Amino acid sequence: MNAGRQASIRKALLGWYRRSARTLPWRSTTDPYAIWVSEIMLQQTQVATVLPYYERFLERFPTITALAAASEEEVLSAWSGLGYYRRARALLAGAKKMIREFKATVPVAVADLMSIPGVGRYTAGAVASIAYHQPEPVLDGNIRRVLARLTGGRIRGDRTGADEAACWELAGGLVEGPDPGDLNQSLMELGATVCTAAEPDCRSCPVMRWCEGYASGNPGEFPVPAKRAAGVKVLAAVAVIGRGDKVLLEKPGDRSPLRGLWDLPALEHRNGADGSAELAAHLLDRHGLEVRSLTPGEEVSHGIMNRRIRLTVYHGTLARGRVAGRKELCWVEPDRLDVTPVSGATLKVLRAVLP
Ligand code: SF4
Repeated sequence: MNAGRQASIRKALLGWYRRSARTLPWRSTTDPYAIWVSEIMLQQTQVATVLPYYERFLERFPTITALAAASEEEVLSAWSGLGYYRRARALLAGAKKMIREFKATVPVAVADLMSIPGVGRYTAGAVASIAYHQPEPVLDGNIRRVLARLTGGRIRGDRTGADEAACWELAGGLVEGPDPGDLNQSLMELGATVCTAAEPDCRSCPVMRWCEGYASGNPGEFPVPAKRAAGVKVLAAVAVIGRGDKVLLEKPGDRSPLRGLWDLPALEHRNGADGSAELAAHLLDRHGLEVRSLTPGEEVSHGIMNRRIRLTVYHGTLARGRVAGRKELCWVEPDRLDVTPVSGATLKVLRAVLP
């Protein structure tokens, strides 16, 4: 794309962004720490999902120093329900690294930003451009799609080798100039609200006159969709063991991706297997707990990455065994759930079964 065309697209995007962008809380701050937190929260997560978490998290941990001083349990509980919990652990580790190596500040250089846990090229470019006004590009699925359409498919946006390099080069050319943070956010905004995957709204698009995809008459054909791996279906049994209004939770082992969170006792199982017997055996073998007969109840669906999990809920009560004083077991009251770090699946099941 030649420099004159890039300059025209740039100018149109910036003007449109300033007129039309959604008001979002992280767009009204200049605090690099808050911008870093927002970018980590937005990884693989939609804006609407992040909104209630962002301000709560910053109220609880208003500075790098406050975050670095928190326990993993405190950070996970503020993250509870947002999913992809490695991001919460990365934020905590990142805050500690900033204290140790960057004088309690978010680093400025992209290379330093990329040394922070959980920060890849996209997040480093977003923080560098939005917080520090550096002309660093960003590239995610939305922006790849916009660039593929703008170039009429010459850039395929399929994340392969030379094409990926060409995508970064074009994004890098567009961000050169004043207000690189706004320019990057205008591309993100365009992909999220106008040039959407489902249907590009070209009539509302600020760059329609330069768009080769629009000129082709079939902008929705770009990018050519990548073949997606089929989702994996998983069956699981989950135990809701009650005592009064409290429910029994366990901590997964240290090698679990959910380590540090509380979870309802649950097991994957085969179609036709007796979930109640397997759960009873698990509780006895792992914790020495005996339960009275577990009866099947609700069915709950939950998605994690490409896994579609169908959970059958089994209700029961404890017949024998000690919970008090055990590190890996606890009773939780429903009104303590918002301050207890629990997995997304557990939260979903409890919301479905508790009054
Ligand atoms: S004109 Fe249409 S296809 Fe081109 S960038 Fe705008 S919305 Fe996307």
